[in-house]
Amino acid sequence: MSRPIRAVIDLNALRHNLGVVRRFAPAARVLGVVKANAYGHGVLRVARALAQAGVDGFALLELDAAVALREAGVTQRIVLLEGFFEPDELAVLARHGIDSAIHHAAQIQMLAHAPAGTTLNLLLKLNSGMNRLGFTEANFAGALTSLRECRSAGDLSLMTHFANADDALGVDWQLAAFNRMTAGVALPRTLANSAALIRYPQTQGDCVRPGIMLYGASPFPDVSAAELGLKPVMTLASQIIAVQHLKVGDSVGYGGTFKAAHDMRIGVVACGYADGYPRLAPSGTPVRVGDVMTTTVGRVSMDMLCVDITALPQAGVGTAVTLWGEGMPVDDVATAAGTVGYELLCALTPRVPVVEHG
Ligand SMILES: *Cc1c(COP(=O)(O)O)cnc(C)c1O
Repeated sequence: MSRPIRAVIDLNALRHNLGVVRRFAPAARVLGVVKANAYGHGVLRVARALAQAGVDGFALLELDAAVALREAGVTQRIVLLEGFFEPDELAVLARHGIDSAIHHAAQIQMLAHAPAGTTLNLLLKLNSGMNRLGFTEANFAGALTSLRECRSAGDLSLMTHFANADDALGVDWQLAAFNRMTAGVALPRTLANSAALIRYPQTQGDCVRPGIMLYGASPFPDVSAAELGLKPVMTLASQIIAVQHLKVGDSVGYGGTFKAAHDMRIGVVACGYADGYPRLAPSGTPVRVGDVMTTTVGRVSMDMLCVDITALPQAGVGTAVTLWGEGMPVDDVATAAGTVGYELLCALTPRVPVVEHG
């Protein structure tokens, strides 16, 4: 018997979530965002399942993963969201038919010096207010002119990204800037991540770029994934491997940060931060033991964490524990740990065996 931790990837849930994207954005093409190894779910398995379900293309940042998708037979559009970094990459992109964001004058220079016959489709990225990547109002027109004159530039489209689609500030201020900068430019547009495509249909444009919602977590702090009709794709599951009985005043784990206020039964679970569970999850973080919700106690260590099973006399060594996923929203664990579901999903470590079904 190996250590009982598993990440179970539910491809039916993934396909279901693509259907939810289509319901929210019926007229737009869908580029499934598969960066960061498909948010920890495995880029090849996710791409295969989404392609089978009719996704229009994929967006990511990692060139090696993009090439691996092509080599695995993916024929849909593939877009690199940060584009290329070195002149050498241009031939690789052209050879594999991988489209590239272009957000900086240095990239236009590289393109201008590309060998003859190197042609790339480009997504011209505008900085509409997030101030991370993209051309500004001052240099967008010049960039567009340069690209229109560049023999290596194939099809062009326009792209921007929203900083506040998930919060009260919203997208109107950035949408106004984007529309002002691109007035009269007749090129396809891609603007919306998960939060924007759900909350602001006016941002859907020609093509949407959902990531987190495909994996069944919520882009919003105040709306659950279930309320959006999404199903969790990754379930991180393990088991209780030991039981301890605490007396009043006993502590558990490193640092003794948790002290029992009454006699307790504690389950020791084979899952720790070296598996991707957040070390900063405090005592009281929700966890599912068997079919019952309980909480963690004490510090999360590298390989183990502890759960309160005082009220669960039937729980013992071998009882199933759901850290997140089916029946235990990853967003609730993330909130307790002061982060977002995105980070927990991406942080799954390679030592956790992955099982897929569906
Ligand atoms: C990651 C990313 C997305 C997807 O965002 P979600 O919030 O996961 O839907 C879309 N566009 C860009 C440019 C991104 O970097």
